[in-house]
Amino acid sequence: MKNTNILRRIFCILLMTIITLFIIFFTNRHKNQDISVISNSGYYFDTFITISIYESNSSQIDADKALITQCFELCEKYELIFSQTNENSELYRLNHSLKPSVTVSDELFKVLSISKEYNTITDGAFNILIGSLSSLWNFKNKTIPENSTVLKELNSLKMADYNLYNNSVIFNGYKNEFPEITLGGIAKGYIADRLKEFLITGNVTSAIINLGGNILLIGEKPDSKPFNIGITKPFTTTGESLANIILSDMSVVTSGIYQRYFEKNGKIYHHIINPSTGYPVENNLYSVTIISPSSTTADILSTAVYVMGPQKGMELINNTENVYGIFVTSDFEIILSDGLTQNENDIFLTSN
Ligand code: AMP
Ligand code: MG
Repeated sequence: MKNTNILRRIFCILLMTIITLFIIFFTNRHKNQDISVISNSGYYFDTFITISIYESNSSQIDADKALITQCFELCEKYELIFSQTNENSELYRLNHSLKPSVTVSDELFKVLSISKEYNTITDGAFNILIGSLSSLWNFKNKTIPENSTVLKELNSLKMADYNLYNNSVIFNGYKNEFPEITLGGIAKGYIADRLKEFLITGNVTSAIINLGGNILLIGEKPDSKPFNIGITKPFTTTGESLANIILSDMSVVTSGIYQRYFEKNGKIYHHIINPSTGYPVENNLYSVTIISPSSTTADILSTAVYVMGPQKGMELINNTENVYGIFVTSDFEIILSDGLTQNENDIFLTSN
């Protein structure tokens, strides 16, 4: 009698286990079958852009494709506002106007205002007036500009300032000697934030917006797990990652000297300019990655913190709420800000 009871119990447990495994198997299969990744790429502002939407409702797939097309239209629109080199852009007209005061669109005004605010926050490290200095460097021809030319542009930069009032930019000095504004250190982040807003209003709940490595996540993966974002190993051509950031709904932006550079006489000349010397920044970092809910903030700070260097830069990150940083040194060592931890190859937010 006792033996029959035990056997019955074992049979019940086995049956329950089989039923549970069955349910898990079919639910996952169902889940995996129902998730579609709708993805498309384009090339705007010298950058490969990929937008990937994770969709669990198959009747939405065509709507998602249309949303991505509209995202590319927004990129075209923003290129015509923020490009320094496109002769048809609003920024180009602003840079080449000889008037002491120019009225600009709401969006250009907003980006200029944020840039000015961060110029103060970063103690001058983030300075959009480095446009003319930046243009002296041609990374394809690998030519180092004359020192006298750099010093002349540096002098104009030091004399220049602008005020923002009522959608107008008011320049303090002779406009024909005024340095050019470049928004290369902020525009991609700002555009990514606008694309995220747009996709959310289109009911997208899970997506990756990738503007040439400037990443902005919407929600989490469809399996309710966070995304994995690789930190590129600087100066490798294989796309090798040094570590993975495990994260949802945030932005990850990297500024690295391996992104646009040339090497001459054993020295690396790159695209991040020190506004106090006029030359590419020299320090022991290969890259700075910033994590923040705002891609605009992450874009500005990755550039600015690189300029500020490891000590001052890390202080700024640790004193800024909801901003986290990962430095890669020239020895490929990884340094983490407060609020991050590393477990083998994976980096996690600990303070959220
Ligand atoms: P990112 O790749 O976001 O670090 O941005 C680099 C771009 O930002 C450069 O190509 C320049 O257009 C611009 N930039 C370089 N140095 C600075 C700086 N010190 N402050 C603001 N923008 C900068
Ligand atoms: Mg930047």
